[in-house]
Amino acid sequence: MTTPMPADAPTTWPAPAAKPHRPLMPAMLRGARGRCPACGEGALFDGYLTVHHSCAACGEELHHHRADDAPPYFTILIVGHIIVSLVLAVEVAFVPPLWLHAALWIPLTIASSLVLLRPIKGAIVGLQWAFYMHGFDPDAEPEDAVMLPAGHPR
Ligand SMILES: [Zn+2]
Repeated sequence: MTTPMPADAPTTWPAPAAKPHRPLMPAMLRGARGRCPACGEGALFDGYLTVHHSCAACGEELHHHRADDAPPYFTILIVGHIIVSLVLAVEVAFVPPLWLHAALWIPLTIASSLVLLRPIKGAIVGLQWAFYMHGFDPDAEPEDAVMLPAGHPR
């Protein structure tokens, strides 16, 4: 015979320490603006897509992010849906010559991808920070932390 668990019993043992809530949307919007997801003041990026090791304003460590392939994936998803829709609409409405399609859509695709990639990466870094993903979680397992090579500038 087993004793029923109390309703407030933790599901893991020991119970994980409560972490402060990190609102998702403000963190993602700060990241999309190229600002630190924690404070919104310090610059997130060092260059076009390189993320600063830590925030110059609040000291939050930012190198834990693992945006990886997600920013280009979402960029392709968004740009592809918009451009393909426009290509089809223009083709049906105006039936332009192929050289005009190429002259219009290739530069527009490249430009919109370059414009969207950085804010999408910033938003994903903000999402990972807000959800305590990867090394942003102080309780993360050591293998989940980003390993920097010896001599890497911190
Ligand atoms: Zn900051």
